[in-house]
Amino acid sequence: MGGIIKFNCYKCGHVWEIFHGYPLFSNSMSLFCNKCGKSITIEKDPDSYKCECGGTFEVSPEHYYCPECGSADNDGGKCVGLWD
Ligand SMILES: [Zn+2]
Ligand SMILES: [Zn+2]
Repeated sequence: MGGIIKFNCYKCGHVWEIFHGYPLFSNSMSLFCNKCGKSITIEKDPDSYKCECGGTFEVSPEHYYCPECGSADNDGGKCVGLWD
């Protein structure tokens, strides 16, 4: 089961949804470095995960960043539903 996450861009006002393989803050999920694109799978809270390149591991950056303006300045996503 996964989650439907809704993002609101603070910069341009664009709203989009993603279908995540796991609920956004589940115990295990894939993260991607925001600089070099390297991925890791983590078991715990991702807040302080840093990549060796100096970037930060984040949830699916291709969705986490606004697809319209590319800004990362959004509300961080809200879970609006679940899917099987
Ligand atoms: Zn935007
Ligand atoms: Zn990196």
